[in-house]
Amino acid sequence: MEQKLQGQVAIITGASSGIGAGCAKALAAAGVTIVVNHPVEATKAAAQAVLDEITAGGGKGMIYQCDVSKEDEVQRMFADTVKQYGVLDILINNAGLQRDSPFQEMTLEKWNFVIGVNLTGQFLCAREAIRIFLKQGIIQGRSRAAGKIICMSSVHEMIPWAGHANYAASKGGIMMLMKSIAQEFAPSKIRINAIGPGAIKTPINHSAWETPAAEKILLELIPYNRVGVVEDIGSAAVWLASDESDYITGQTIFVDGGMTLFPGFSTNG
Ligand code: NAD
Repeated sequence: MEQKLQGQVAIITGASSGIGAGCAKALAAAGVTIVVNHPVEATKAAAQAVLDEITAGGGKGMIYQCDVSKEDEVQRMFADTVKQYGVLDILINNAGLQRDSPFQEMTLEKWNFVIGVNLTGQFLCAREAIRIFLKQGIIQGRSRAAGKIICMSSVHEMIPWAGHANYAASKGGIMMLMKSIAQEFAPSKIRINAIGPGAIKTPINHSAWETPAAEKILLELIPYNRVGVVEDIGSAAVWLASDESDYITGQTIFVDGGMTLFPGFSTNG
């Protein structure tokens, strides 16, 4: 495989499972040294397994425990990464979770928890990455950009989601965070984009595809008629991090098999 990101360094948050792990493996295969972030002691073994797979394939990296909703932990992770590798080229702001509830029963704790990880976590990590990118500037022969940030959003930055108001609000917030900082830092040659996954088979949505009956209902929302896999997101992330997408900033690329095409209107409307 062509190593189109050879020698670059990336922090990938929430990389011990699902889409984050998929992005870690895809970027590593493209030549990137990976910081496999995970939040707590309990996720350490899974993060190590991701790193082991990367190193077995000839890649490099380290695991790093950090809760992205905590400012001091985030600052430490970015400082230690630069101490270790001397440089940072890519941030994949991927960590995210759901705490679903009918809205009238949603506690402030559930609201704050989801916003704290999904939105504030992306703010804290993006801010540290931007500070590093501004200091580094463009490093000749590395990349045409001074740095790249990819925010893991969702189709729910545009599709409302009853029973998941905290999650959908966090993803709508990520979209405007991403666009606002893309506008602010384009003159500094820092590119910031988002990926909006549709339904991708990971632990976050296991119940939606674990049985053939559940998968059949899910497929009614997907015109392309298959549930996505983490490799679909990994290859989009590699491209968005590469110079092939150098003129793209402030955009969400939906990787969703057509979920955002309002499939209900294909036979009714
Ligand atoms: P996942 O549960 O496998 O991954 C989420 C990861 O975030 C986990 O590894 C978890 O340990 C980590 N995490 C949670 N809290 C954290 C914290 N405070 N600090 C650091 N890491 C933390 O699910 P996934 O589907 O791989 O989700 C990854 C991202 O993709 C999320 O932002 C999610 O909203 C988004 N997404 C997923 C889908 C899908 O269909 N799977 C669709 C749209 C968007």
